Formats: sequence, C-alpha cells, structure tokens
Amino acid sequence: MRLQARIVLLPLDRKELNFCKAILKSDFGNDLPRLMTEALRIALQSARGLDEPWTKEIKFYWKKLNSRPPHNVRGYWNVARDTIIELIEQNRKTGVLVGGLPMIGVPTRIASAAVFHPEELMRWLAFRAIANKQLGRFVKCDYCGAWGLRERARKSNRYCKTECQEAAHLELVKRSQNEAPAFAALGQSGRDAIRTQQIKSTGAKKGKLPAMLENEKKVLELRSRRSQLRKL
Ligand SMILES: [Zn+2]
Repeated sequence: MRLQARIVLLPLDRKELNFCKAILKSDFGNDLPRLMTEALRIALQSARGLDEPWTKEIKFYWKKLNSRPPHNVRGYWNVARDTIIELIEQNRKTGVLVGGLPMIGVPTRIASAAVFHPEELMRWLAFRAIANKQLGRFVKCDYCGAWGLRERARKSNRYCKTECQEAAHLELVKRSQNEAPAFAALGQSGRDAIRTQQIKSTGAKKGKLPAMLENEKKVLELRSRRSQLRKL
C-alpha cells in the first residue's frame, strides 16, 4: 500500500477575507499603516509551523518594509492589488494557474508559508481562497463600482451587497414603467419574457423568477388601480 501525504490549504478566515476586501478597496492612503500591520500579522499566522529563524526573518522583512515612507511602498501594494484582481478575473471552473507563490514548508499537515512581500501575500491568500472556493465571493459591483465580499461565491454575483442588487432591480422596474406604453403593446407573454430577462440580469435565482414576476404583476396592478381611484 502506498501512503499518500496530504497537505491542507486552510480556507481564509474572516480577518483574512476582510483584509483582501480592504486591499481591493484601498487607494493606499491613510489606511496604509493599518493594512501593513495586518499584513505582518497574517504573514506570521501563515508561518505557523515553521522554525523560529524563519519567523524572525519574516518579521524582520515586513518591519523593514513597514518602516519605509508610504510613497515608497505604495507601488508594491498597487502591484499586489492588481495581482489579486487578475486572479479573481481568471477564476473559473477549470481552475487558475497561480505563480509566484511563497516558499511552502514541508513536511507539515497544514501548509505554512514564508511570505516576505505584499505581492507574495496576495498570491498566497488568493491560492488558498481558490482551493476553498472563496475567491468568487469577491465581486466588483455593477451598480456602484465598489468591491464587495458576498456571503457565497456565485457566478451570478454582480453586486457588492444586497442593497445594490435591490437598487439595481428597482431601477429596472422604474425604467420598465417609463417604457410602459410600448411595454403594454407587447402583450402578456412578451412582457413576461422581457421581465424574466431583466430580473435574471440582476442575478436573481432561477427558481425565484416566477414568484418575482407574480409579485411584480400584483404591485403594478395595485398601482394602476390606485391611480384609477385617484381619477374618480
Ligand atoms: Zn455596490
């Protein structure tokens, strides 16, 4: 019998996920010192299981980097952010090739890494996130343009948070009301087809479509009844 070694790639914890989100959203201005402190903490957490000389060296490198003036290190962080954005964009079912990873310590059960640099850190975090199906949770919003972290990784995620998803949906409804005369001329089946398309584009679940259509019809009916009453 052949023995198989397994190395576990831990999923990103809440703090690491929030760190990635902060990097995606940051312009590396006033928040830079806070981000750098957090980067050092994550680098040391990733190094758990490595010998002490390694930990010391990692600490030494990050502290040296963090002591430099912001304009001096901003470039590194910009590259690090571009790296994770690129990996998010490439992330798909067939997998992604992640290069430039940090040195990984073996033998060990839980993979530990010696991370010395912002870009290395983002590659390492993205690598673990891909392995644990977390990278798809980062979404650039179609509505407000900001980066967000969703609860679940879904292909249909297009908004940074539910508020934006709802606002975008409301705009679609408003638009369709402005186009009401032409819309009415389409007949029921034509209207349903268009609305289905519109609701789908907001990232709503397929199973929810009939209920959403039904709901919307009721709202529109109620509105038209109200406006008729007002006329009386
Ligand atoms: Zn948004």
